[in-house]
Amino acid sequence: MKDNSRTTIKRITRSIFLSDEQPYSSLFNLYKNEFLNLSIQKGLINTENLALAGDGTPVATSARERKHRVCDCISKGITDCTCDRFFSQPDCDIGWDSSRDCFYHGYDLYMFVASDSDSDLPVFPLFGPASRHDSHGFLHAFFRMKSLLHDFKIDKIILDSAHDAMPFYEYFKQEGITPFIDLNEKRGIKVKYKDDFIIGKDGIPVCKAGRKMNRDGVEKRNTVSNSIVL
Ligand SMILES: [Zn+2]
Repeated sequence: MKDNSRTTIKRITRSIFLSDEQPYSSLFNLYKNEFLNLSIQKGLINTENLALAGDGTPVATSARERKHRVCDCISKGITDCTCDRFFSQPDCDIGWDSSRDCFYHGYDLYMFVASDSDSDLPVFPLFGPASRHDSHGFLHAFFRMKSLLHDFKIDKIILDSAHDAMPFYEYFKQEGITPFIDLNEKRGIKVKYKDDFIIGKDGIPVCKAGRKMNRDGVEKRNTVSNSIVL
C-alpha cells in the first residue's frame, strides 16, 4: 500500500455509498434479505459486536480477455490493427493469483465474513478487477459495507499481511476497532526492532540467543506487549 493511503482513507471515510446508486443494488438487496438477514435472525451473526475477517480471492471468468473487433480491418488483410475492441467484461482484468503462482483473467472477490460465526458466514462481498491489491479491495469493500450495513457495529477485524500499513492501524484506533493484522515481512520486520530482539517471520519476537519469546502480559501505561524467553 502506498503512502497516499492515508489520504485515500480520509477521503473515503467522508463518502456515502447509497444502495440504489450501486450497479449491484438489486443483487445486494436479494443477498441481504434472503441470506444475511436470516443469519442475523437465527442469531448466527451478532451485528452488535462483529468480529470480521476480510480478504480477497481470485475469481477467474475466462482463460483470456473477452474482446472482439468492431472494425473491418481483418477483411482487408490487416491482422494487427490498433482499432478499438469490444470488451464483453470491461470490469474484469488480469491479476496475479499468489496461491497458484499464475496470472488469471477475471475479478478479485473481496469478502468480509463473521469470523466468530459457524463456518465464517458471509457479511459483505464485493467484486473488483483482478488487478486490485487486497489493501485497496479492503477500502472499496469496507466503506461500502459501512454505508450499506450502517447499523452493524464492528468490534474486531482480522486481516492478512497485505493490510499491514500504518494508515489502517491509525484508522482502526480512531474508530475503536481492534485490528489483528499479520506483519508483512517485506516491510522490514526482519530488521532489529530494538537492540535486544528481532521480529521473526511468523511475527513472534526472537531474542538475541535466537529463541522465540513468549507473551508475558501488557504494560497498561503504554500498551506495549511484554515478552520473555522460556
Ligand atoms: Zn481495425
